[in-house]
Amino acid sequence: MRITVFLSVLLLFACNMHMQTSPSDPHSFSNPQEVVIRHLSLNLNVDFNEKKLSGYAELTIENKTGTKELKLDSRNLQIEKAEADGKETRFHLSEPVSAFGSCLSVSITPQTKKVKVYYHTLPGAEALQWLNPEQTAGGIHPFLFTQSQAILARTWIPVQDSPGVRFTYDANITSPPSLMALMSAENDTTLHADGVYHFNMPQPVPSYLMALAVGDLRFHAYDHRCGVFAEPAMIDNAAYEFADMPAMIDSASLLYGDYRWGRYDVLVLPPSFPFGGMENPRLTFATPTVIAGDRSLTSLIAHELAHSWSGNLVTNATWNDFWLNEGFTTYFEMRIMEKIYGKPYADMLSKISLEELKHTIEDMGDTNPDTRLFLDLKGRNPDDGVTDIAYEKGRMFLTLLEQTVGRMRWDVFLKNYFNEYAFKSVTTAQFEKYLNDHLLTDDEKKKVIVAQWIYRPGLPDDCPEIVSDELLKAETAANDFVSGKEVNHETFKGWTTHHFLHYMRSLPEKLSLSQLYFLDKNLGFNAVQNAEIRCQWLQLCIKNDYRPAYGNLENFLTAVGRRKFVRPLYKQLAATPAGKEFALKVYETARPGYHSVTRKSIDEILGWEQTH
Ligand SMILES: [Zn+2]
Repeated sequence: MRITVFLSVLLLFACNMHMQTSPSDPHSFSNPQEVVIRHLSLNLNVDFNEKKLSGYAELTIENKTGTKELKLDSRNLQIEKAEADGKETRFHLSEPVSAFGSCLSVSITPQTKKVKVYYHTLPGAEALQWLNPEQTAGGIHPFLFTQSQAILARTWIPVQDSPGVRFTYDANITSPPSLMALMSAENDTTLHADGVYHFNMPQPVPSYLMALAVGDLRFHAYDHRCGVFAEPAMIDNAAYEFADMPAMIDSASLLYGDYRWGRYDVLVLPPSFPFGGMENPRLTFATPTVIAGDRSLTSLIAHELAHSWSGNLVTNATWNDFWLNEGFTTYFEMRIMEKIYGKPYADMLSKISLEELKHTIEDMGDTNPDTRLFLDLKGRNPDDGVTDIAYEKGRMFLTLLEQTVGRMRWDVFLKNYFNEYAFKSVTTAQFEKYLNDHLLTDDEKKKVIVAQWIYRPGLPDDCPEIVSDELLKAETAANDFVSGKEVNHETFKGWTTHHFLHYMRSLPEKLSLSQLYFLDKNLGFNAVQNAEIRCQWLQLCIKNDYRPAYGNLENFLTAVGRRKFVRPLYKQLAATPAGKEFALKVYETARPGYHSVTRKSIDEILGWEQTH
């Protein structure tokens, strides 16, 4: 997944949860030590009128201990019937526990091979985003997409919803005839007139990588391995933007071994997708906000592609080990960017991310236990662990290891690590042992205090520094502007999105209205469509109450639902009474178009629940 800096107030759920969770995963009720799912056959009908999926999930199981109970995770699912090897069997749903849902226990015998659960989803299933036609780019057809990470698969499929459990799957999906259905599996790239789609996923995946999308979609192929799906209105722009995909696959495979998933395609979702991207295997889901027109925001694709090794191939065993997914992926993303676009460009991205990490740690407090790489999320929603720490502190730790042993040894180590744990899950302790056994010499173990990085809060003193000459240019230009030097337009020639972002971030918080007017007039910030630049500019405008930008602000907040962008804008608006009033007015219109993930964040910022 690609997020950027999401600081949540880390609240504990009510303490008296009486949760009987799996001994290996505090976020699952399942019992994979006793009986484990090996294959899932899904048969679902997609009903846009009732906003409901209905059908059955047939689970092929392996009973290791002869237990008479299969425990599954389920949240807000209407279970109709359960069968064991074709015969109806008893089932029981426990009292629901907040984000975790209920334990669905199904009676089996030691000989049972297949368990079939008939069910349908209920309104409010958090993994499902049902979009009305007006929330899509085309405006004619509705759209459905899922987001299962971290523990939302259980809101649309009854499964052992733990990253430590992998299974292969196949699926029959029936959708309205005019729409195309896609899954994180082998996909057909053409429309089926009868609306019936069959999918097959021969590689075992954890439940959080289960994904489905249904909409009016077109496909553009780059070569025999990869392509992009998008709504007809966006397909040409999307095809242009992601044209470096084949080169990215080549670079990634050269670095850390073959791509093992068959095809690699990207699906561009409507603007309400709350995240940057989601690494659903074979089919990355991506926000349209990276379509900048100049290919400047495609590091997101490098990130999601890198997950085909770190995360999807070698998976964090629990959400406490989330940094093993995201730290490795963020490191790998930078290596792909460096290979394709060169070191100065990659350094620029690295430096910006490192600065953001330092801000995150400052905001969270450097003794905050959630600034450790290995987290303790027991009893809490694993989304609480989705901060910069897993991504950027993780990446900096791996960068330090690379610098300590040299790139050649490090790359061999990493390639072997991906091979050793392919299609398996890994705990932090296992990685640490593998690192000590296979990479670090006794001298190097004295140099890098691994435990400090993994188990202690804050940013260790030996965190590598990154120098970016490109960003220094942006800083100099910002200083020149503030000190009143005449602006030379030549300065901005050849600047990328990241130069402009850094330029704006280097300006002081308080600017005069005439300074803002000057920037608006001369650099045209208020007319920019690039979502990153637009969001940064609008933050500057809110801080300084630059009213000519408020129409633009309202349009942006209404059209885009990516949490990374809307969250800081609402947060800044909420800092003043007049700003909050404006925010509430805009939110009233925008809220129905946002995903539940985004709504949850903005509800908190604006105190929406108390007032509505
Ligand atoms: Zn990610």
